[in-house]
Amino acid sequence: MIDRFPDIPARIEGLRELACNLWWSWHHPARDLFNMLNPAAWQLSVHNPVKLLHEIDRSVLERAAENDHFLRHYDAVISRFRSEMRGKGGWFPSHIRNPMNVPIAYFSAEYGLHHSMPFYAGGLGFLAGDYLKECSDLRLPVIGVGFMYPGGYLRQRLSPDGWQLSESEILDKSHAPISQVLDENGKPLLVRVPVIEPPIYVGVWKLRIGRIPLYLLDTDIEANDPWNRGISSRLYIGDAEQRLRQEIVLGIGGMSVLESMGINNLVLHLNEGHPAFAVLERLRYLIGNGMSCREAIDYVRRTTVFTTHTPVPAGHDIFPFHLMEKYFNSYLPTIGLTRDQFFRLGIDPANPQVGFNMTAFAMRMSLYRNCVSRRHLEVTESMWRHLLSELKSNGTVIDHVTNGVHVLTWLDRSMEDLFNRYLGLGWLEEHDDPSIWALVDDIPDRELWMAHRMAKMRLITTIRERARLRWSMDGADPRIIVASGVLFDPSVFTIGFARRFATYKRATLILQDLNRLRSILNNEDMPVQIIFAGKAHPADDTAKQIIQKVYNVAKDPSFGGRIAFVEDYDEQLAQYMVHGVDLWLNTPQPPLEASGTSGMKAMVNGVPQLSILDGWWLEGYNGRNGWAFEGAEGADRDVRDAHSLYELLENDIVPLFYRVENNDGVPHGWVRVMKEAIKSTAPRFSSRRMVKEYTNKFYVNALDAANSFSMSMTQES
Ligand SMILES: *Cc1c(COP(=O)(O)O)cnc(C)c1O
Repeated sequence: MIDRFPDIPARIEGLRELACNLWWSWHHPARDLFNMLNPAAWQLSVHNPVKLLHEIDRSVLERAAENDHFLRHYDAVISRFRSEMRGKGGWFPSHIRNPMNVPIAYFSAEYGLHHSMPFYAGGLGFLAGDYLKECSDLRLPVIGVGFMYPGGYLRQRLSPDGWQLSESEILDKSHAPISQVLDENGKPLLVRVPVIEPPIYVGVWKLRIGRIPLYLLDTDIEANDPWNRGISSRLYIGDAEQRLRQEIVLGIGGMSVLESMGINNLVLHLNEGHPAFAVLERLRYLIGNGMSCREAIDYVRRTTVFTTHTPVPAGHDIFPFHLMEKYFNSYLPTIGLTRDQFFRLGIDPANPQVGFNMTAFAMRMSLYRNCVSRRHLEVTESMWRHLLSELKSNGTVIDHVTNGVHVLTWLDRSMEDLFNRYLGLGWLEEHDDPSIWALVDDIPDRELWMAHRMAKMRLITTIRERARLRWSMDGADPRIIVASGVLFDPSVFTIGFARRFATYKRATLILQDLNRLRSILNNEDMPVQIIFAGKAHPADDTAKQIIQKVYNVAKDPSFGGRIAFVEDYDEQLAQYMVHGVDLWLNTPQPPLEASGTSGMKAMVNGVPQLSILDGWWLEGYNGRNGWAFEGAEGADRDVRDAHSLYELLENDIVPLFYRVENNDGVPHGWVRVMKEAIKSTAPRFSSRRMVKEYTNKFYVNALDAANSFSMSMTQES
């Protein structure tokens, strides 16, 4: 990959390595470095340094290599980068015993890392992406495994009547910071998914996330029959058989890719049920090396962690038995299980006849199981009570580790500067320690307010610029331009609602009573505006209708252009929104939001959340850091929930925002809530706290088991 750049002057050749490691994406000074080369080209590359270095004129690089200002900056960034990549120490090595250096393999069907790497659909992916970044920061010996999705990803555009049109955009591999993994002969590594007939092959790409390697599987390769090439083409294929093949490739193929690299003993972390077949490949390996089936199952359990992410029934994959039989017929003899024994591992006792349930299978094959918030644990305990009572033999059956977000990734740069100034230099290293955050009170209200205003300006400018482009390129209907936020006013109180459009997330709850909403938005003294963004799954027409409904309201002149639907929600737009809106809105139907993370991203930036009590908010809300209301029950629950929402907006939230008492233009009461939002969220809902909790609750024990196993293997040989 390295030689595809133009020759970079020797003095600044570290740019190569930096561009090919996503470490740059969560370090502002590293981002600045690329921006300094050529701000316009950086913008044009959509913040993709590989593309930038590929396309930039050599003369620009030569000038930079002689520019003192650039070089000072370059030296500081590169030396920090190299010491973080190569240096010793770090939280994990200094706290956790891992004498045989056993790796932790993290398997996930999606990763949300940066907008130039579109391997994600939503929250699950960002959780996995934030997790890998944090593992790099804390120096966990983690290896990620996922999919490449070469067939493209969804760019969202709306038709004039608000219907989501899916345009597929193919990832340009030559401009992505990925490199093809080669075998010992220097040829692209090709791994056959073991035993499965007819054969399926995978190629492997490597992406560096700080110290963490992420291996991305790709079935779009010549060795495969044409009908197998598309297996990894798209996230979450609807067709059951294709999806089963996808999960076979991810789990079994992914594990054998690790084997082909000599990684045979490990701790396995299954992020959601999709990759759970990985345990079968571990069994096959252990049994092939002389273990009995019983011992192998026991060992795999003691070294496997499973995280379940959703109480929504459709979020749990169930495969019909005849399909399972078709694909696993040849596999089962290699792991010493009969068909019946195998199927029994995947049955949900509450609903045994429907098929092989990946969540049930993952639960049975892991000793360490967790939900992603305290509330989600309660819901899971009741949803899976039959299965869990079967598993009750030893100790804790299922625990919870509440999700967290990677603070540096989601923090606005002006906020980061403020924290650097007021929290003391060690704040970043210790940011999961709540006592550090008490210092947020020392930030002058005015400075915090101004930093937020800047972020809000950037958001609104970005939205208007997108609308302007749409206008000048397509000459779209002016109503559409208005509906995309061109009339937005940075001095007006701004609510943000952005996430995947799934029915249970209830994007239209705030549209329940349009007259009441109209009077809230058009209040002359205290106007309000709302930004919506989010994609629907291409096969989910109900969700597309929800988008259409929002869009039609946004186009209605009686709302004064104060509602916008911004197309093509992705990581970049998410950044602008969680930094720049005044209030984050979250109104799912309880108890279906397992955790939710977008509110955490907003809160660390001083954007308080107004949320129904569900998911993480039941742990996060403290009465001072935002607003909460209890979800109603019964058939008219939407009406009553909307009523609660309007009451809070009209009586508490909007008036507080506009209350400026001492003529200094700063709403001190509001700023107090902003400070509480930051203080209460940044330490406890950070991925730092989360990764440490996974380590202390699960990895420590699983690693002990794996280390003893490695030691016994070494003694034998
Ligand atoms: C954080 C994030 C999500 C998840 O949002 P939730 O509100 O937790 O569902 C989805 N998409 C993007 C782009 C995100 O950054």
